[in-house]
Amino acid sequence: MFEVFENELNNLQSILVQVKNASLDFLENIAEKPTYIADQAVPVADLADAGIGASGSLEVFRKHYEKLMVASPGPRYWGFVTGGATPAAIAGDWLTAVYDQNTQSTQGAGDVSAILEKETIGLLCQLLHLPEDFNGGFVTGATMSNFTGLAVARQWAGERSGRDVSREGVSGDLVVMAATPHSSVVKSLGMLGIGSNNVVRIQALEGREAMDLTDFEQKLMDNQHRPVVVNCSAGTVNTVDFDDIKAIVALKKKYTFWLHIDAAFGGFAACLPSQRHLLAGWEQADSITIDCHKWMNVPYDSAVSLVRKEHSRLQVSTFQNSNAPYLGDPSENFSYLNFLPENSRRFRALPAWFSLTAYGRNGFEWIVRNSIARAEEFGAYIQSSEHFELLAPVRLNVVCFRLKSGHEKMPVFLDRLNRREKVFMTPTLLSGESAIRAAFVNYRTRKEDILIAIREMEEVLQTL
Ligand SMILES: *Cc1c(COP(=O)(O)O)cnc(C)c1O
Repeated sequence: MFEVFENELNNLQSILVQVKNASLDFLENIAEKPTYIADQAVPVADLADAGIGASGSLEVFRKHYEKLMVASPGPRYWGFVTGGATPAAIAGDWLTAVYDQNTQSTQGAGDVSAILEKETIGLLCQLLHLPEDFNGGFVTGATMSNFTGLAVARQWAGERSGRDVSREGVSGDLVVMAATPHSSVVKSLGMLGIGSNNVVRIQALEGREAMDLTDFEQKLMDNQHRPVVVNCSAGTVNTVDFDDIKAIVALKKKYTFWLHIDAAFGGFAACLPSQRHLLAGWEQADSITIDCHKWMNVPYDSAVSLVRKEHSRLQVSTFQNSNAPYLGDPSENFSYLNFLPENSRRFRALPAWFSLTAYGRNGFEWIVRNSIARAEEFGAYIQSSEHFELLAPVRLNVVCFRLKSGHEKMPVFLDRLNRREKVFMTPTLLSGESAIRAAFVNYRTRKEDILIAIREMEEVLQTL
């Protein structure tokens, strides 16, 4: 063996201890780490002939790059919809690299990670009160989960027009409808050759992001002779608005359409008895998107795609990986190779398995409840402030607000706030109006963090 690798293996113990120590340094001080890095000049060097080994690289990384790592797993990173990483999830993620399984098949791959992945999906469905009616698999994020659900929807739609889309390519028949789809749904339509411009926009209710059911039904009537795919939002990112799933499902009795539910983070509302009604009827969906790297607080690279088992044949037609004989018959030998976009992939279920096993129903119920409590506290401040106003009622875990007057100062306000490195929020547009969002997703966020953020905001106001 090349001497370098011989040395690395001999030093494995000390390498992993150094990594453990680096991890602890970061995580134990996460609340004090900056939520914003102004100086983004990243040092670059040429590739050396002789490397410096794992310990050497760790040392260089810590010296020059570690300070560039933003505290996104910390308690005051409220931009986008950013989850943290619980200890169990980190343990599972670290071990995913250690075990380095290639999750593919439940039979014959000499590797049982696919079986454990199915078990993890089962646990997740129990947490979210979903029946065992879905084939589930882990993908990189909600974008790929939306892509997967919509890809099978496209196959379904093709079949209704007598076309095998995965083999013959797309035709222009399919109609996709949505009121306020996430940008990743629109992106997925582009990737699927359906076209990102080809979303029939269902009107939203007055002052809401949820669909107007009268307009929806009218559009279903107008398109009765074409295959229709409906994207339903179960939690919009700006105001956590939910389409009325129960009413949409009821329309399935009268009209034929594929129902895809993007419940990337909103699906976790099902953990709380008091919020479960928001998802009533979702078990009737054809496909569902759930993100684990958001409200589940699993590190990035984790989402689940759920597609009804009755569509297994369509799912396999969509994702069948050539006809290589070693793959076996997809109907007899369940293989993720034939159910999801990727072939070789990491044992992505492991961090979620650790989390579900470590924290159970009570743990996730607490995380969701905690985030909602924080959003309500922050929302109450906005509402009572003479300088800010809410742009929507606080629903679940997102506060969408703006300056009451001087709207043109919003970008400056947000930039100054973020540059103070104590709290991070992101800008957005709501009905064309510029707004700021604070999303509460991380289990670490405490009441004190809300107070810190308020103090920072008040100080920035003084500078405007
Ligand atoms: C975050 C999000 C997505 C995209 O998820 P990624 O994990 O970033 O790919 C899709 N839909 C909704 C509702 C989201 O919140």
